[in-house]
Amino acid sequence: MGGFGSGRGQGGKDTTSNMRPLDVRRLQRDGLLAPGRAFGWHWSRNGEEVASVQMRTEVDRVTLNYRSRSYGGEWQAMEYPVRLEWTPCSYGGARAWFRCPAQGCGRRVAKLYLGSAIFACRHCHQLAYECQRETDDDRAARRADTIRKRLGWEAGILNGEGDKPKGMHWRTFGRLKAEHDAYVRTSLAGMAQRFGLMKW
Ligand SMILES: [Zn+2]
Repeated sequence: MGGFGSGRGQGGKDTTSNMRPLDVRRLQRDGLLAPGRAFGWHWSRNGEEVASVQMRTEVDRVTLNYRSRSYGGEWQAMEYPVRLEWTPCSYGGARAWFRCPAQGCGRRVAKLYLGSAIFACRHCHQLAYECQRETDDDRAARRADTIRKRLGWEAGILNGEGDKPKGMHWRTFGRLKAEHDAYVRTSLAGMAQRFGLMKW
């Protein structure tokens, strides 16, 4: 049985490709935005339902109701309104928009995407993605620091090397030091590249 994330591609810039899109134009086209409507929407992959949301429509909002679970966590009931906005079309009628419900956003958008917990516009998901992303050299520096801590050395790869801790086998020390040095090289190379200081 395929899991939620089975077969999804990694890499690429489109951070919303693994998310569940909710398109207000589609809802409008299907006549689902009339006040007082209540309906369900689901997403499936290979014929199997992978996510669903219940919606209730009022004049200026649609209330979403669903359960979400972040990786390995408990299922959590989610319920909150998303504002609807209507703009006149040049040939009569009105076009519906969502206002992104993410804190501090409120952008007028046609599509919201369900990430791990909430529906938000792609700008919000992109921001969240970039904050979480750690560069290779950040990671290498952090790993080097983990080893430095184990060796009792001062944190920070630019602080030089210390001695072998008392009671540690030379062989263990040699292995840790080799790992440490490799991380330091990766980190310095990454920093040099990012800031354009020098070539390694
Ligand atoms: Zn947003």
